[in-house]
Amino acid sequence: AKYVYSFEEGNKDMRYVLGGKGANLAEMTNIGLPVPQGFTISTDACNDYYKNNETISDNIINEIEEKLKELQEKQGKTLGGEINPLLLSVRSGAVFSMPGMMDTILNLGLNDTSVVALANSTQNERFAYDSYRRFIQMFSDVAMGIPKYKFENALDKIKEAKGYTLDTELNVEDLKELVKKYKEIYTKEIKSQFPQDPKEQLMLAIKAVFKSWNNPRAIVYRKLNDIPSDLGTAVNIQSMVFGNMGETSGTGVAFTRNPSTGENKIFGEFLMNAQGEDVVAGIRTPKDISSLKEVMPKAYDEFMKITSILENHYKDMQDIEFTIENEKLYILQTRNGKRTAGASINIAVDLVGEGIINEKEAIMRIEPKQLDQLLHPRFESKSLNEATVIAKGLPASPGAACGKVYFNAEDVVDAKNRGEESILVRLETSPEDIEGMVCAEGILTARGGMTSHAAVVARGMGKCCVAGCSDIKVDEYNKEIRTEDVVIKEGEYISLDGSSGCVYIGKVEKTEVSLTGNFEKLMNWANKYKSLMVRTNADNPRDAKAAIKFGAEGIGLCRTEHMFFDEDRIPAVREMILSKTLEQRLVALERLLPMQQKDFVDIFRVMDGKSVNIRLLDPPLHEFLPHDDETIKSLSESMKVSVSEIKRRIVDLDEFNPMLGHRGCRLAITFPEIYIMQAKAIINGAIEATKEGIKVMPEIMIPLVGEAKELKVIKEDIKETIDNILEKENMKIDYTIGTMIEVPRACLTADEIAKEADFFSFGTNDLTQMTFGYSRDDAGKFLGEYVNRELLEKDPFEVLDQRGVGKLIELGAKLGKSVKPNIKLGICGEHGGEPSSIEFCYKAGLDYVSCSPYRVPIARLSAAQAVI
Ligand code: ADP
Ligand code: MG
Ligand code: MG
Repeated sequence: AKYVYSFEEGNKDMRYVLGGKGANLAEMTNIGLPVPQGFTISTDACNDYYKNNETISDNIINEIEEKLKELQEKQGKTLGGEINPLLLSVRSGAVFSMPGMMDTILNLGLNDTSVVALANSTQNERFAYDSYRRFIQMFSDVAMGIPKYKFENALDKIKEAKGYTLDTELNVEDLKELVKKYKEIYTKEIKSQFPQDPKEQLMLAIKAVFKSWNNPRAIVYRKLNDIPSDLGTAVNIQSMVFGNMGETSGTGVAFTRNPSTGENKIFGEFLMNAQGEDVVAGIRTPKDISSLKEVMPKAYDEFMKITSILENHYKDMQDIEFTIENEKLYILQTRNGKRTAGASINIAVDLVGEGIINEKEAIMRIEPKQLDQLLHPRFESKSLNEATVIAKGLPASPGAACGKVYFNAEDVVDAKNRGEESILVRLETSPEDIEGMVCAEGILTARGGMTSHAAVVARGMGKCCVAGCSDIKVDEYNKEIRTEDVVIKEGEYISLDGSSGCVYIGKVEKTEVSLTGNFEKLMNWANKYKSLMVRTNADNPRDAKAAIKFGAEGIGLCRTEHMFFDEDRIPAVREMILSKTLEQRLVALERLLPMQQKDFVDIFRVMDGKSVNIRLLDPPLHEFLPHDDETIKSLSESMKVSVSEIKRRIVDLDEFNPMLGHRGCRLAITFPEIYIMQAKAIINGAIEATKEGIKVMPEIMIPLVGEAKELKVIKEDIKETIDNILEKENMKIDYTIGTMIEVPRACLTADEIAKEADFFSFGTNDLTQMTFGYSRDDAGKFLGEYVNRELLEKDPFEVLDQRGVGKLIELGAKLGKSVKPNIKLGICGEHGGEPSSIEFCYKAGLDYVSCSPYRVPIARLSAAQAVI
């Protein structure tokens, strides 16, 4: 096997071998862009390293040495050379980009002699020592684990003593002094001299990159982004170019389009006389890329040319890192840029307009989950106008966020665990803050630009972020924010507008959103290609309306019990449940009938001809009963039954295992009159709506069936009730009766059940509960640990377990169709709005998925992607 590839040997399709960065460095090399030469150690080598107890095999070391020799020859320089020393960068590069998660070492190869050689060969002593001190710090931090702040303290001390504010003010003597200090810190921490042998430096650095694959923040990032942990990282070894050579040098990053809005305009920042992370670390405030035009017009023009070459080549918005060394431009990295959901849609639709990609490709470009960002509320304009702006920073990642301020990641995580919403406020964020960023509603930093760590990571997560807000002083020690006028202490509310950069004191109200513009256009394309129907779970006209706005094509699950909880009817529901005799129960049901009927008419009106699937009463009756003395007392008065009698009946209805108890169709076996009342309400409602000129197609769904005969007897009652009414009214209404498939036995006997059913709707919440034997209400106690320890890949209540529960669905669908080829099949669990589960439903041959209103667009896009 081959483990090491020079850039000339790779290409962009080799990302699994070379990592994303390595594959793109190779691609750019081969299309003739100015990339410093180098080679890539493959991800296989990383896996080999872990397999061999964290050692690098000899054959891999040999390959590295061979490629290094080649590189030295091509460059005419030697690593650690005493005349013209070769300096290297050692860069991690995973298969999927993990911004800021892995560590890079620059200027490797410097030691006490090569630093002199570098000074001589470049005629720039200041530059040589500046590079050396950077190298010692990075190497010590990344490869040896010495905390960065120890070096930063030493740097601050010198700056303070000399009265400097910027690093660029340090002169040669200062830097030499600093190098000496840094080496002392190293020796004190590691108990040995700073390694002078460049080969040793190189091997330690490579190992450090391999090790960083398993550092805690990389692990968190992978979990968050569903990146498998066995991919490994590649290591790129590249000759250095220098942005810190003086005022005709610099370094920067740029996006070919705006990553917040998608606007087709280059967007980026650069810093003169700077190296590597200076731009993203937010130490000095970088300049807008457009001003490069004045400073170095030739380099600027070339850069603009290259950005368009890259965008056309990759057919997508690129995020490009570059360095200018004495006016000569080098490209150090390109990748498809991270962007907000809004930008993602605008860019994809624009690229179709520009003829660069087609509609199908545009659909595939959007991560369905990302749409969530667009479907969430924004600030309501009236409330926004009345709110007080206390500061304005950079609009780094759009969205609206309110929360209590906390000043470190841990406090944010704690707040989240207490159920509070919070805003993470930092001077600037670093990769250690990642968990806090996940848990916060929004992020506010005082330093850093549009490409700072906070901004990049927040955009990737779709989290609201205001960065570089220099109007505020962040006092992380005393845990407060100060502006000219106000002090905001830990735990007090602020609101952030990530689209304007404004920071408000207190809580600002939010509003709902709708599908318009490019979003609507993309959704229409999705409809063109998808074959699954997308319905919604809605129990009331309000939700149904919202879902239709998002493109729902029907209701897949209307839970009638939610109607039972309303204030005006819960007393009647309770009387019905607590009735001792059939007569009493019928009286109570008679009171409920007109109310249920009105609910259905309202929904039929909103759905106006679209299918409506109504599930008859499902939960255990105990859930409807009161527990406080006052309610019990008033119930006893209206029912004319003693308090103690009512209490006794409440105890009687108590169950050990209610989810597996007297619920669903089992209720109708013992109390047939309940479903009969509901059937009446549905059909009366349908008649009423029909008379108004609305087309109605009710689907009546019996829950929790596990045996065909259950369905058969219940269906007979319902049919008789409905047909009698229709006959009396002399009306014809098409209705169907089917069942929810949510008990494993129903899947296993689906052929028998299908004889009695017009449709199946897989109720995957209960089906998952009963297939795993995990109580939905108790699984929170252990499922987290199952996922952490990788016993389960995902929480099966969120993402359908295709191998287990999915197998039951496939079997149920197959058996059902074997008896009734046209049986209608759908899914109505939480999984109906989850992209990977939707793809599964498509493959299993279902007709529709049903999900909550806000997930309808996600489901439409996923359904289209499943086909493409
Ligand atoms: P990350 O994945 O965190 O962006 P990189 O490997 O891209 O890490 O390195 C970070 C920065 O280091 C780059 O943006 C670039 O500025 C600098 N850098 C990396 N390699 C070189 C090089 N060969 N010459 C000059 N600067 C480099
Ligand atoms: Mg980079
Ligand atoms: Mg159920």
